[in-house]
Amino acid sequence: MAKGSTSLNEVREVTWTESFGSALVGIALILLCAVLLYFTKYVPENMRLLTRVACGIGMFAGIAILGVAAQRSFEAKKVVGVAFACPYCDTENHFVEQQNSDFDCEHCHRTVHFMDGEPVPVRTIVCQACQSEHRVPVNLTRYVCDKCNRPLKVAADVTQKIAAASNEAADAMLQDYNVVLLAIDRRQENDLAFKIQSLMMITLPEARRLIEAASPTAPLIVASSLPQRKADAVRRSLQELGATAAIRPAGTPAPGARK
Ligand SMILES: [Zn+2]
Ligand SMILES: [Zn+2]
Repeated sequence: MAKGSTSLNEVREVTWTESFGSALVGIALILLCAVLLYFTKYVPENMRLLTRVACGIGMFAGIAILGVAAQRSFEAKKVVGVAFACPYCDTENHFVEQQNSDFDCEHCHRTVHFMDGEPVPVRTIVCQACQSEHRVPVNLTRYVCDKCNRPLKVAADVTQKIAAASNEAADAMLQDYNVVLLAIDRRQENDLAFKIQSLMMITLPEARRLIEAASPTAPLIVASSLPQRKADAVRRSLQELGATAAIRPAGTPAPGARK
């Protein structure tokens, strides 16, 4: 078994089984010695004391074994371990050590995945067919809905550091768009410069310089990493000022682009 992946329940089970076994040995020893002690009255007198002492020692040994077994199982119960809440069903699983590798939840029996010792974050997806919600690891690309058995497409962005991705970030990944400025209308250059100034939070001269440099071959990223609807709204507001603008799926955000 991999280090750190021992569930506390498994350890307890083993301990209890072992303790139960040795407790039986202890009880058997006590009973045997008690019976022998009874029969010592038939032993010749010169040997009687010796055999009685031997039986007494045997009984003490049995009691000691029983005591150790009881203490072991008691201590196994006392161990708190490390709790790890299942990301799918939120039930706590208990482990001997900090969990850092894949394990199956004891309650929902789904596998909790780990990457580089960190649990892979989980996000909620909704089945388009039956509207049921599912929690899936963010690095999962395929999932079959267990309610209606339809395969669900789950987009995953491998360039994103999975460890850092929260549910929200994962959702945003699916629908990130950049708004790019391709060309401007000189007659409305002033209005557009003001617009860009506020959009990108830069100075007016800087905005002017940037929009004048913008061209279809060197588009200016005006806004990045927006949901499609927001990106569309920004694009329209630029077009109203005579600019040629477009939205593009965000890859890696351009350096200097405003979030
Ligand atoms: Zn679970
Ligand atoms: Zn479904």
